[in-house]
Amino acid sequence: MNLILLGAPGAGKGTQGNFLVRDFGLKKISTGDIFREILKDESHPLYNDVKVIKEGKLVTDETVNSVVRYAVETSENKNFIFDGYPRTLAQADALDKIMSDNGMKIDYVVELSVTKEVLMYRLLGRRTCRSCKSIFHVSNGHETCPECGGELYTRDDDNEETVQARFEEYNTKTLPLIEHYKNKDVKYIKYVVDNKDLQPAEIHQKLIVELK
Ligand SMILES: [Zn+2]
Repeated sequence: MNLILLGAPGAGKGTQGNFLVRDFGLKKISTGDIFREILKDESHPLYNDVKVIKEGKLVTDETVNSVVRYAVETSENKNFIFDGYPRTLAQADALDKIMSDNGMKIDYVVELSVTKEVLMYRLLGRRTCRSCKSIFHVSNGHETCPECGGELYTRDDDNEETVQARFEEYNTKTLPLIEHYKNKDVKYIKYVVDNKDLQPAEIHQKLIVELK
């Protein structure tokens, strides 16, 4: 099965994606992770396209699509979960082509729809460990990192303005993808996260029911 996980940054895609990888044996395609891997390897065929990231620049859409194509075509596991890609209709078209060129298709689109209130609560309360990068919510009351004792801090981009901007970008650029896939033979599953106390494991249990 091939699945796309959609959701605004902070909706919990990473956590849910890891659960689905574990339960369904999927290969996760996350462009951020792949970029980091490529940057470690100067002999990688896409290194020169991706290295602009080191200068703080954004890679082109074309490069993002090439990176995904490369990851799909070189993976032995051909059951994919796409996390954070596609983000735009143009990328969705590119992914459709990558899949059909390889005799595959997208079977599910899973949207983790999170209310702005829950998103703000989660991200503005997020504390990151300077040493081990673990993430905790301020409501847990930790003074220092419970994993390693490191200092907990608030990331610069976990502020109201940035969260608002990312939420709006998701709504304008990524939400139209749902219509795109509804017009194809794809099962669309939406899960609304409107309760800040809801645990990731509970969401996962509900998702599994929908996927079976
Ligand atoms: Zn730590």
